[in-house]
Formats: sequence, structure tokens, C-alpha cells
Amino acid sequence: MIDVQKIRNDFPILRREVNGKPLVYFDNAATSQTPQQVIDVIVDYYSNYNANIHRGVHALSQEATDAYEQARIKIQKHFNAAKAHEIIFTSGTTHSINLVANGFASILQKGDEIIVSALEHHSNIVPWQMLCEKTGAVLKVIPMNQDGELMMNAYDDLLSSKTKLVFTNHISNALGTINPIEEIIRKAHTVGAAVLIDGAQACPHIKPDVQALDADFYVASAHKICGPTGQGMLYGKEEWLNKLPPYQGGGEMIEEVTFEKTTYADLPHKFEAGTPNICGGIAFGAAIDYMNSIGFDEIAAYEHELLEYATEQLLNIEGLKIYGTSKNKTSVISFNIEGIHPYDIGTILDKLGIAVRTGHHCAQPIMDYYKIPGTVRASFSFYNTKEEIDLLVAGVERAVGMLV
Ligand code: PMP
Repeated sequence: MIDVQKIRNDFPILRREVNGKPLVYFDNAATSQTPQQVIDVIVDYYSNYNANIHRGVHALSQEATDAYEQARIKIQKHFNAAKAHEIIFTSGTTHSINLVANGFASILQKGDEIIVSALEHHSNIVPWQMLCEKTGAVLKVIPMNQDGELMMNAYDDLLSSKTKLVFTNHISNALGTINPIEEIIRKAHTVGAAVLIDGAQACPHIKPDVQALDADFYVASAHKICGPTGQGMLYGKEEWLNKLPPYQGGGEMIEEVTFEKTTYADLPHKFEAGTPNICGGIAFGAAIDYMNSIGFDEIAAYEHELLEYATEQLLNIEGLKIYGTSKNKTSVISFNIEGIHPYDIGTILDKLGIAVRTGHHCAQPIMDYYKIPGTVRASFSFYNTKEEIDLLVAGVERAVGMLV
């Protein structure tokens, strides 16, 4: 069971006030907060062994290289990848998706089809549109229903021998829906298509097993799971990563360079041009250790409790509508109140020290589907409490009193 008061002590930021009120942080789907254990790793790196990696013979460089490569192994084990070199360090989910989309530009042919889900973040739409422009491939969309779930019958109809790639998020950032990715992957493979899963919103809540899922690519960002910003990862099956060309050229990613011809380094370095975010990679590993020390089963059970409690309390408010009503969802509540702009609710909540996100959540097609400009999104983490949810509910009631 989660000892939430003990856990809260790990997060220095939760002790601060905003606008004279104790901070209530419900913007976890945008970025999570950082525990002292991860902050200590960052401070230790810059205080004691900051150096460039992989090419130094001196002690600091070797220490930094060891820590960086150890972090890669931690990430490999966490995601259950078969090999450490199937984990590529990137600056985040967006970078990882662009890397794969860029690679497929040399594989796709005019008329090939790629399938995207209706529930995507812009970062899992725009790179594929750019890819279609470059290659003449065609983008098809799995539609969604009113509950914010993918319509899997329509997916069956979209799949054909022309389908070369399917990509979807594991969990929607705007609605919290958990997508049936096992089924999506299995069916894509029956027509020989590769599948990329955007796990940015899944990793804070569950521990994905990329081999059991049989995902061809799985991508995530460290800052959603108690790690630093500007750091992420791409898992790719070795056979796919070997097929894709490098994304960027530069130092670190070469085997031999002459002006006539350059040969590329082996995986994972082929995709890691330039000096990476060394501290970020090491801190990513520390964040994974921290999350595992709490335990993903415990996190899921506690967050489910928070979700049920908050849903029940918020629905008592007149005129409040929740978007994303699938039974299969994580601790995200996207809502609106009739006659009030989401931005106005967010602004009043901020005055009360409560951080929520308002707007389209980088998922404009979902907002278009519901014919709304945006929502207020409260997203809960394992360090939040029911008392904080009571403050949110009281804050929304206050906003309604002021604005209706
Ligand atoms: N996909 C999803 C589902 C997300 O929630 C996010 C972050 N909001 C991203 C992709 C992009 O992640 P990043 O900005 O860390 O690259």
C-alpha cells in the first residue's frame, strides 16, 4: 500500500506555496515532479563526475560513461527489451517519433498506407504527415467514439496489405483512455505492418513489457516519470533499428570518416550523434529506480482510487461534463462546465494554488470531435491525496459561483 505522506516528503516542490496557498499539483500528465532521490543524482553528476562520454581515457570520462551505460541497462530491464542496444537515448518522445518517421522515409513507397489513431498527441501526428508529404504514403485514421475509445471494427477495415505502419499512444494524454495496444499490434502484424507505441502517458502508470507486447517501437519521456526534461528513449527491435538510416550525422555515430565515405557506428550509437544529455540519461535511470521502489501495482491501485473519488465528487457539480468515460482509463479527468471557458476555470484554480492544464492538450482532433475549444484537465499522480481532490472540487465550485 502507498504511504502517501512518506512519499510526499520525497518531493521538495510539494512543500511550496503558490499564491499564498499550499501547491496542489494536478498537471502530472504534462510533467511529473522530481523526487529528492533524482535531484541528488543530478547534483552528484555535476558535482563529482561531469565529463564527456565514450571517448575519454581519463577517470571522469570513464565514470560518466559507466553511469550512462548502466542507465541504459536499467531502462532495458524496465521495459524488458531483449538487448541494451535496442534502447536509444533521445531528448524525449517527440524526438523518438521523429527519428522513426525520418527513417521510414527511405522505406515507404507512394501509395503505401500508415494508420494513426484518432486519440493522438500532435507529436504522434505531425511527423507522420510530414513523412506522407515526402513519400506519397497515405494517412488513415482509426476513429473514436463518444467515450473516447478507439473503434476497433473500423481498424479491422483499415488494415490491408498496403498498411506498412501503425502508430498509436498506449494511453491518451487528453482523456486518459488506455488503448487496446495488444490487439492493435497483433492485427497489424497479420498484414506485415510495423507498430510504434507512444508510451509517454503510459509509463507513469504501468510497466510496459515490449517483448510481451511485441511492439516494434516503443517511445517515452523521462519527465513524465519523475525524471528530467529533455530526456527520453526509443525502444526498437534490433532488426528494425538496423534497417533504419541514421537520423542525424555527427560525432559519436560514426565508425570511420573520410571525405569520400563515412561508415556508421553500431547500435545504439548510430542514432546518438553528438554529445548527449549525459546527466539526463543517468537521471532517467534513477527515476526508473525511484518508480520501481514505490511499485507499479501499488501506483496503479492508488491512482485508481484517486480517479474514482475525484470522478464521483466532480460529477456532483451541476453542468460538469467529463470527456473520456471509458472504463479503461488512468487518473486523468478532462472536463468542462456548461457556459464557462476552461481557461477561466484554470485561472481561478491557479489563484487557489491548484495547477491544472487547460486547452486542447496538443490533441486538437479530439477537441474537434467533441466540438469544444478545449477542456480543464486534472491529472493525478501517486503523490496526490484525496484532501487535494477536495480542494479541487471546492475550487471548481467557487469558479462556478463566480462565473455562471
Ligand atoms: N505523446 C503523448 C501522449 C504525450 O502526452 C506527450 C507529452 N505531453 C508527448 C507525446 C510528447 O512528449 P515530449 O514533449 O516529452 O516529447
